[in-house]
Amino acid sequence: MKDKEVIERLFSVLGKYYDDRGEGPFVEYRSPSELYDLLRLDRDDCRGDWESVFTWIEQYLRYGVKTSQPSFVNRMWAGANLPSMLGEMVVAMSNTSACTYESAPVSTVLENFMIRQMLQLVGFDDGEGQMTTGSSNANMIAMMCARNRAAAGTKLSGLFGQSPLYGFVNEEAHYSMDKAANILGIGTDRLIKVAVNDRGEMENEALESAIARVHSEGGVPFFVAATAGTTVRGAYDAIVPLLVLREKYGFWLHVDGAWGGGVIMSERLREKYVPGLKQADSFTCDFHKMLGSSLMCNFLLVNKSNRVFVDVLAGGDGSYLFRDTAENDVRDLGSVSLQCGRRVDSLKWFLDWKYYGQEGLAERLESYLDLCRYAEQCVAKIPELELVSPRVSFNICFRYTGDFGDANTFNEELRTRLYHKGKSLVGIAYIKDILALRLLLTNTSVGRRDIDRFFSDLVEEGRQLEAVS
Ligand SMILES: *Cc1c(COP(=O)(O)O)cnc(C)c1O
Repeated sequence: MKDKEVIERLFSVLGKYYDDRGEGPFVEYRSPSELYDLLRLDRDDCRGDWESVFTWIEQYLRYGVKTSQPSFVNRMWAGANLPSMLGEMVVAMSNTSACTYESAPVSTVLENFMIRQMLQLVGFDDGEGQMTTGSSNANMIAMMCARNRAAAGTKLSGLFGQSPLYGFVNEEAHYSMDKAANILGIGTDRLIKVAVNDRGEMENEALESAIARVHSEGGVPFFVAATAGTTVRGAYDAIVPLLVLREKYGFWLHVDGAWGGGVIMSERLREKYVPGLKQADSFTCDFHKMLGSSLMCNFLLVNKSNRVFVDVLAGGDGSYLFRDTAENDVRDLGSVSLQCGRRVDSLKWFLDWKYYGQEGLAERLESYLDLCRYAEQCVAKIPELELVSPRVSFNICFRYTGDFGDANTFNEELRTRLYHKGKSLVGIAYIKDILALRLLLTNTSVGRRDIDRFFSDLVEEGRQLEAVS
């Protein structure tokens, strides 16, 4: 087969896959050992054989999870925007690294442009930003900026002999905060988990007394993160009271909007959920979650940055690679990035931004909220179901109740059955000691009828499971 035929065949396979994306069950479930056999991974008769390549591609698509399917309600993303998919294909075919202008001129310009758009939207003055590999890394970079600002000698001499640094996060903050504290030499014991109220929002008084205690013991409260949309409950930590505390204690205030940060697209939602954001020190958001770009698509912004990226992140001799020339008037993004090679994530981001526009994305979020209100009403109406936590934004945490043994075990089993039967894939998470089913609606093709079907499948399966429990 000629290369051109290979590519045409691929596009035809992909076109069919895309057409059928909403059909049938979201997964044809196979156990790992079944898959191992089916895929015949040990074959060694395929050198130069395009037929084998296509067999594996077809199998990948067939046994993989169809994330566009309306019953895939498990994750913070579902399917992906079509413009961004086109961008991904183009990026795959043209294969370059977005670390330098030389190797990625268009991408560098697009990324800088998009960062400026986001800085403006959020209201960060004299800010800077970068695309990272995801909010986990963005959280870490924010914490790193905070660390090096609080302990200025760290970059050269490490943390030895410094006053102990303490960070503070919502006790339901994302686990990447712990990983960051580990990697950065802060220590996970020094990442203080602040108690939350019954809506899952960080308690301001608990935070202040924890900060005051650390301060009086000679520790340095260097970092506080507000979560804008916690992963499990969708709670938004109030930013304004943190600004007051920052005046007093001088920490770096980061806002983790990986999940709920998309509200910046709508003036109404921005006011409702993240007032005060424009005075934070840094902010991250995953465009690949609620906003629908292909995975991964993240940005990190720093307010009034004063060259913090160069000070904190640049390092080592990159002269073989980086050419920051006045003539280009554009910085090589790789020089302040944590990795050397950088995937081009800018094209899909830019295409989505242009195709949908801020207004289109704002409307999308409003419509997700509508659906969430609807789903909440369904839970209220169905006698077997109850909310585990009040709905505060986009997350619906509920469970099946009844006269059976351990409710956690039951709900986990219920969820597994729905998955293996290909009926739905819903998330699970603990809220305190209660296992909740976490319904997330981030698929533009999902409507009320899909939600009805989701709940009726769930209740039907629940009744069957009750009968045998
Ligand atoms: C998803 C999530 C993260 C992690 O983001 P990745 O892009 O997957 O690394 C961080 N914080 C919150 C609140 C999240 O929901």
